[in-house]
Amino acid sequence: MSKELRYVIIGAGMAGILAGIKLLERGEKNFTILEKASALGGTWRENRYPGLTCDVPAHAYTYSFAPYAEWKSYYANGPDIRDYFEKVAADFGVNPYIRYNAEVTSCDFDEATATWTVGVSGTEEIEADIVICASGVLHHPKMPDIPGLDSFAGKAFHSARWDDSAVLDGTRVGIVGCGSTGAQILTALTGRSKQIVHFQRSPQWIMPVPQFDYTDEEREAFRKDVKLIDAIRYNKEYWDAILRFTDGITNIDGPQMKEIEDYCLQNLENSIKDPELRKKLTPNYRAACKRLIYSWCYYDHVQKPNVYVDTGAIERVEPAGVRMKDGTLHELDVLVLATGFRADRFIRPASVIGRNGKSLDDAWAVRPTAFNAVTLPDFPNFFMLNGPTGPVGNFSLIDIAEAQWKYVDQLIDRLRAGNARAVEPTHEAMADYEEKRIAAAKKTIFGSGCTSWYLDDTGVPASWPWSYQAFVDAMAKPDFEDYRFAA
Ligand code: NAP
Repeated sequence: MSKELRYVIIGAGMAGILAGIKLLERGEKNFTILEKASALGGTWRENRYPGLTCDVPAHAYTYSFAPYAEWKSYYANGPDIRDYFEKVAADFGVNPYIRYNAEVTSCDFDEATATWTVGVSGTEEIEADIVICASGVLHHPKMPDIPGLDSFAGKAFHSARWDDSAVLDGTRVGIVGCGSTGAQILTALTGRSKQIVHFQRSPQWIMPVPQFDYTDEEREAFRKDVKLIDAIRYNKEYWDAILRFTDGITNIDGPQMKEIEDYCLQNLENSIKDPELRKKLTPNYRAACKRLIYSWCYYDHVQKPNVYVDTGAIERVEPAGVRMKDGTLHELDVLVLATGFRADRFIRPASVIGRNGKSLDDAWAVRPTAFNAVTLPDFPNFFMLNGPTGPVGNFSLIDIAEAQWKYVDQLIDRLRAGNARAVEPTHEAMADYEEKRIAAAKKTIFGSGCTSWYLDDTGVPASWPWSYQAFVDAMAKPDFEDYRFAA
């Protein structure tokens, strides 16, 4: 007996759109995608800062089933990526299923009926058999704890809350933070702003990569022959580099990460002329401990005469600008806080209550986690895409979400077949996973000594600590022994 299941998908970003497409592919139409904002695109909607680019090659940053001939360059910019997701959602018929301005505020599971009640914007409730949580990782801005921020006379804002009224042309701009975001903003502003101060608390590893535009002829060729796109998406050299990279993350004494470090340091040496600046930009921790910055132009831009990198400690923000501990005042008109995100929030602050009144806050009291990065004991029929402990690094999270969907889909199959009403991992499987994961995570490069959003509050890397291939293998087929199916 097959059963028509009711689904709620939380979030109309890359993973939520994927889930919608996959359900439609199976002929399942009883689902709603709840999106808190008024447009789709997730991170590519929220981030609108100048210079926004994806550091995964554009043709590799697509759904495997939706190649795209129209990319303008090897690495795509944010607006083009957002256009892509809008096009895919339209082409695959997902749009009618998205409800905008519909923020999920609660999810409550009733064991007797195996039903989730999903609270929307505090005003409405929707019932579902299955919740697909595709709410993203990097969407809660982390504001820096700098005294006096509110006193700044100019415009100060987080990079993911871009203030369009801020004047950037011909003005003095300060950028706090030099992760991928801060580096990209800097490269976009050197030709516009009069003066830029980059406040750098830790130097970054910069991986030099090529950037180039595709010609009209190339796009025409891509349209005619998808094999040309596949040749880029599945390029052996590109994938070998990813596998070398993930091997380097898990095998920190091996040659792979050392090679990456040598390559980056050689590029630093060749690119940065001023020895003092070179010293400032030389990392003092292992490469990839923080997310590597892939850039084709950061070193060019940081050497422009209108850029100053201040590696000193910030004392406070004053109405006129940023006062350093050494007494220097950087007078500024605009202050951009590229200070990252609270990566431990996920779907929270929504209240999620599973079986026996167990809350997500309780389950994650020590750290956010999920069995195989997808499911949680006591939270039946609750599946996370790009949830805690999934792989992170310089590769496409679309591929990660697609692999996770394969796994989730097989778990749901038993519910579709009517053989069970609820599925969740056993506590034993979860405990065993987490014990092994933590032990392995501490040995990865992420745990080698640096600050980064990859670490949880206790300093344990929050990500998948095994190889990329191990993840793909784990997602290929669930081990049903690890699961409890309730009839
Ligand atoms: P991030 O990597 O977490 O970097 C935050 C930066 O802010 C760091 O330089 C940090 O310094 C600094 N910072 C934080 N608090 C500070 C304070 N109180 N005073 C001074 N400096 C402070 O954040 P992000 O650059 O926004 O990037 C987050 C993630 O978004 C990336 O790792 C990546 O996964 C994703 N992203 C991807 C792309 C892409 O191209 N695919 C582009 C942008 C972002 P410390 O290093 O010393 O902590």
